[in-house]
Amino acid sequence: MAREAKKILVSACLLGDNCKYDGTNNYQKELAEWLSDKIVIKVCPEQLGGLSTPRIPCEIKEGKVINKHGEDKTYFFTKGALETLRIAQEEQVHFAILKSNSPSCGSDMVYDGSFNHRLVPGEGITAHILKINGIKVYTENDLEEIKKIY
Ligand code: SF4
Repeated sequence: MAREAKKILVSACLLGDNCKYDGTNNYQKELAEWLSDKIVIKVCPEQLGGLSTPRIPCEIKEGKVINKHGEDKTYFFTKGALETLRIAQEEQVHFAILKSNSPSCGSDMVYDGSFNHRLVPGEGITAHILKINGIKVYTENDLEEIKKIY
């Protein structure tokens, strides 16, 4: 019997979409090649939340998402996270591969809110919402592990 094709939710910037805050991307060649024969659902939660590109960078501080100018952008990040969850559930994705360290997509480390490039243990808003709804979240750095499992 043919193996069921897995649907995978992936951060769009990892596949070359210029949706990063500075209008560039985080293209990962090896990941893109591995995904080339799989069913991929690409998302950028920050764009889905209504934020423009380019945009002022944000970090998580005391439970809120604050941009470098000190403005609270939590509403947009939460909106994007809920829309990403809706898409993930509608598409019945098997798991997600999201960009590490992002205040939306990061799933184990995030920047500490000081805008000094300091990482601390934590989750982005989207990664957190996916996880508490039962969707396994990997980062692009987990590719070798993912290959062994799937
Ligand atoms: Fe990439 Fe996620 Fe940031 Fe969009 S929100 S640019 S997909 S890390």
